[in-house]
Amino acid sequence: MTEERVCDLLVIGAGLSGMAAAARAAGHGLSCVVAGNPSSLTFSSGLMDYLGIYPAGTSCFLKVPEKHLTDLEKDFPGHAYAIAGDAPIVEGFEFIRKILAREGLNYTRVPSQGENRYVLTAMGTIKPSFMVPETMASGCRALAGDSGSLTLAVAGIKGLQGFSAAQVAEGVKSKFLDTIPVRAELPGVRTVVPPQILAGQMADPEGLNAFISQVRAGAGKADILGLPAVCGIDNSEAVIGRLQEALKIPVFEIPCSPPSIPGLRLKNAFERYLSRSGIALLSNTRIKDPVFDGTRFTLTADLDPGELKIRPRGVILATGRFFGNGLHARRERIVETVFHLDIVQPLGRNLWHDSSFLSPGGHKINQAGVRTDKVFRPLDERDRPVYTHLYAVGSILAYNDWPRLKSGSGTALVSAFTAVDHFAESLADTAEAGHGC
Ligand SMILES: Cc1cc2nc3c(=O)[nH]c(=O)nc-3n(C[C@H](O)[C@H](O)[C@H](O)COP(=O)(O)OP(=O)(O)OC[C@H]3O[C@@H](n4cnc5c(N)ncnc54)[C@H](O)[C@@H]3O)c2cc1C
Repeated sequence: MTEERVCDLLVIGAGLSGMAAAARAAGHGLSCVVAGNPSSLTFSSGLMDYLGIYPAGTSCFLKVPEKHLTDLEKDFPGHAYAIAGDAPIVEGFEFIRKILAREGLNYTRVPSQGENRYVLTAMGTIKPSFMVPETMASGCRALAGDSGSLTLAVAGIKGLQGFSAAQVAEGVKSKFLDTIPVRAELPGVRTVVPPQILAGQMADPEGLNAFISQVRAGAGKADILGLPAVCGIDNSEAVIGRLQEALKIPVFEIPCSPPSIPGLRLKNAFERYLSRSGIALLSNTRIKDPVFDGTRFTLTADLDPGELKIRPRGVILATGRFFGNGLHARRERIVETVFHLDIVQPLGRNLWHDSSFLSPGGHKINQAGVRTDKVFRPLDERDRPVYTHLYAVGSILAYNDWPRLKSGSGTALVSAFTAVDHFAESLADTAEAGHGC
C-alpha cells in the first residue's frame, strides 16, 4: 500500500549533518521528516572538530582554527568554511551543544578564545578537537595545563577490542611525569564483547565496584585516570562522578574505535530531541526517485512493507560519502545516488588515488563531492542552483577532506544550519508575499 505525507522539509540522511538539520528545522517550527540510518552516528568518535590541522598532511595542530580560514579559503574557495565564515561555524557548535545538553548529553562549552582542545586517543596520540564530551574534559584540562607534573593511569578493560592501555600509556609518556597501564576485568566478561555490554557493566554498581578495586590496586599512586569511553550509555557523567568520588582523582574517557559509545549517546540524544520536537524519524528507510512538479518534490520512502510518498517543499541531502552511500564509485566515475547531481571529481579513475597511500597531498577522491552556492544549494554545470529548495550538507560536499583537516563536525553543522535557515527564511518570504496579495 502507498501512503502519502506532506511536509515542509525532508532531510535525507540521519548522520550528524541530517540530525543537525532536523534539529534546526524543529527550531524554526517547520514540519520535517528525516529518513536514514541513525546508527551511522555510532561510527563517530563523539568529538566535534572545527579545524584541527592546516594545511592537511602536515603535523601543524592548530590552536585557533579561525586564524587559518583565510588560507583555507584561498586554497579551496568552494569549501564549506570559505562559504560560511567563522561566526556561523562557532554559532553552529553552540546551537548543537545546547540541544544535546537539553537531552542530558553535555559537551564542553565553546571556548571563549575559539581555541582547540587536545584529546588523548586510543592510539596513544593527541588530537585537536573543538567541542568534546564533558566525560573527556579532565583529560583535555590536564593536557592543556600541568600534565608534566602528573602521573596518568590508563585502564584497559578485558573484552574490549582495539584498546591497549599499554599502548596508550607508552604513546603519551612524554606528556606526563609518568604513566601506569592497568587492566581491569568486569564480572563475567571472559572474551571479546561489544562495547555496549561493557558500558552496561560499568553503569552497574557490581561492575563499577570491581573496576574501582582493580584500578586502586594497580594504580594507587596516579593523579589522574583515563579509561576507554564505555562509562555507561545514557548516564556517563554519573558513572564518571562515581569513579572520581571513589578514586579521589580526576577521571576521563578516551575515545575508541567504532562502534563508539559516545556516538551511540549522540544518536540517543538526537532521537529523544526529535521525538520531543514532533519531527518524524523514518529509521533505516531509503529515499529514492525524486520528482519535482514546480512547487513540491515527491520522493518515495521504502517501507517494509509498502511505500510512503513524501511531498516536501524543500529537501536537505545529507547522505554522506561512499560509506553513507551518498556517493557511489562506478568503474569510470563517481555518482550522487539520489538526485544524480553533478559531482566535482578527478577526470579519470587513475587520478582518484595517489600512488603513495600516505601521500602528504592526500588523495583527490577525498575532495570529490557536491559543489554548492553560498547557501549550500547544489549547482549545475552553468553554476545555477539545480532546484531553489534542494540543499546538500555534510560530508557529501566537495573540497571537504575532513579526516585529514579534522573538520568533520564543523562542516556538517555549519552547512546544515545555513541551508535550513535559508529554507526557513525563503518560506517566510513566500508567506509574506502571499499575505501582500
Ligand atoms: C569513523 C568516523 C570517525 C569520526 N570521527 C570524528 C571526529 O573525531 N570528529 C568529528 O568532528 N567528526 C567525526 N566523525 C563525523 C564526521 O566528521 C562527519 O561529521 C559525519 O560523518 C557527517 O556525516 P554526514 O551526516 O554528512 O554523513 P554520514 O554520517 O555518512 O550519514 C549519511 C546518512 O545518510 C543515509 N543515507 C544515504 N543514502 C540515503 C538514502 N537514499 N535514503 C535515506 N538515507 C540515506 C545513511 O543511512 C546515513 O544515515 C567521524 C565519522 C566517522 C565515520
